[in-house]
Amino acid sequence: MKYTTIYICEKCGQEFRDDEMCKEHEDYHIEPKDWDLKKVAQYSRDSKYPDTISIEMADGTTVMYYEFATSGQKENIPLATENSKED
Ligand SMILES: [Zn+2]
Repeated sequence: MKYTTIYICEKCGQEFRDDEMCKEHEDYHIEPKDWDLKKVAQYSRDSKYPDTISIEMADGTTVMYYEFATSGQKENIPLATENSKED
C-alpha cells in the first residue's frame, strides 16, 4: 500500500503535494487587516444589506466588494413606516 500526503490551503481549499508550494500559495492570499465590517459597509438609500464593503488589507491595499446576490427572496421594503398615516 502506498500513501500520499496532500496539503490543503486553509484559505481557499486548493490542494498541493508539496508543503512549500502550499505555504507559498497561502502567503499569496492577503488577509483583511480588520474584520469589523460595520465601519466599512456602505448602503444605498433603500437597500437592506450593504451594497459595498471596503476592506483594508494587511499590505495596505483597500479592496471594495460589491453585493452580488442575497439568498432567498428580496423583500419589498416600504420606505415609510407603519406609523405614518394618511389622514
Ligand atoms: Zn489558497
